[in-house]
Amino acid sequence: MNAYATLREIQQALFRGTISCEDLVRHHLSVIKQHEHLNAFLSVYETDALASAAVIDKKIASGKAGKLAGLIVGLKDVLSYKNHPLQAASNVLDGFTAQYNATAVQRLLDEDAIIIGRQNCDEFGMGSSNENSAFGAVKNGAQPNRVPGGSSGGSAVAVQTGMCRISLGSDTGGSVRQPAAFCGVIGLKPTYSRISRYGLIAYASSFDCIGILGTSTEDIARVLEVIAGADEYDSTVSTQPVPEFATELHSSKTKPYRIAYIRETVDSDGLQQEIKDTLLQKINSLKQQGHTVNAIDFPLLEYSLPTYYILATAEASSNLSRYDGVRYGYRSENTTDLQSLYKKSRSEAFGKEVQRRILLGTFVLSASYYDAYYTQAQKVRQQIRQSMLEIFKRYDFIILPTAPTTAFALGENTSDPLQMYLADLYSVVANVSGIPGISVPCGNDNQGLPLGLQVLAGDFQELALLQFSDILMKQD
Ligand code: GLN
Repeated sequence: MNAYATLREIQQALFRGTISCEDLVRHHLSVIKQHEHLNAFLSVYETDALASAAVIDKKIASGKAGKLAGLIVGLKDVLSYKNHPLQAASNVLDGFTAQYNATAVQRLLDEDAIIIGRQNCDEFGMGSSNENSAFGAVKNGAQPNRVPGGSSGGSAVAVQTGMCRISLGSDTGGSVRQPAAFCGVIGLKPTYSRISRYGLIAYASSFDCIGILGTSTEDIARVLEVIAGADEYDSTVSTQPVPEFATELHSSKTKPYRIAYIRETVDSDGLQQEIKDTLLQKINSLKQQGHTVNAIDFPLLEYSLPTYYILATAEASSNLSRYDGVRYGYRSENTTDLQSLYKKSRSEAFGKEVQRRILLGTFVLSASYYDAYYTQAQKVRQQIRQSMLEIFKRYDFIILPTAPTTAFALGENTSDPLQMYLADLYSVVANVSGIPGISVPCGNDNQGLPLGLQVLAGDFQELALLQFSDILMKQD
């Protein structure tokens, strides 16, 4: 099969009749088979995908195809796809089948996208390496002894290796952007409230955001315009009109931008040398192209990590209380009364990291510590958001690393949770502030591992982010 650069090119071939959706599905199924050892997919929907392809091929022939005809999509195992398994990569949802379609999934299907399977991830989205899955770790397609990042690791590897064209993941603290960086693909986390969370399994509801992984900004733009926007099933979704992102991506003019970089990030000891060098090199070429680039101080940056881990664990402890072994999912067999049913079902089925976070979250919400941690963290969150908004009065973008390092080795950080949390230093700030962010592939490090840089923008600036990403990717 041809290496098509964008969905637009695929659709040209579909409309010319040189390929069919069935060919596309068969192609991706064979790529999935070739890469089985990477453990990116938990289920592959071969029969369903081929059946949808046949229907869409007829629609194409009769000129009735939807906007996303020919798009082969994978879903992180946190998004509901009716009558298909849904487990958040956890044993606690063993045997669970989705009862309805997530709004984002429904909108993809309505525009004739084809869903090819369910992708591995860290349990309930909690992790940065995809080693916290009940189904085993995912391996990075660049080097299989390396992690793919997390928590949307399966989704990133699937796009990296061409198992699907687009993946939908979720980004609560960086879970789309960080694996995108580790795997050399693009990962967009839109503004909080841009995309409905209906049908997305909750981890930390005030941070959770559906995100898009792909290899071209144009594909991502096309998917974003389909899935974004008001939804009667989620009252937190913004009613801001949704631009025609894909059309405007190339038609609306870009201008000399005002770009900031955070001094603390460049000076940080923990930043891998090649990431620092790439960042500085990009800054230089942006200046040469006539953009304004200034260093700024953002001392609150280091507070975003504790703020995130206090608030996200608090919300998780509440969200995950519904998994009690009574209504659905796993139920322990050796129980004596209701209390022991709750306790044993939860202790036996939740993985170690999820249990750690439930305990942390319960602790920060407990009566004696509530003010010291939860209330305090909420105040800091507001300050971080306010400072961010101040910066975006003066600048269009902030450019920073997506993660402090490239993909680390499998097992390297598993014994030290704190070390693992530190890997989220640069990504959580977007979720704490609710603003959009994107990770853009910017070459490889000395070991041939993909390297990503991140761009942040003010609320609802996704179009500008995508346009600027193209500029960054085009630079040498
Ligand atoms: N790595 C972060 C965490 O472990 C982010 C996870 C996410 O965005 N779902 O919480």
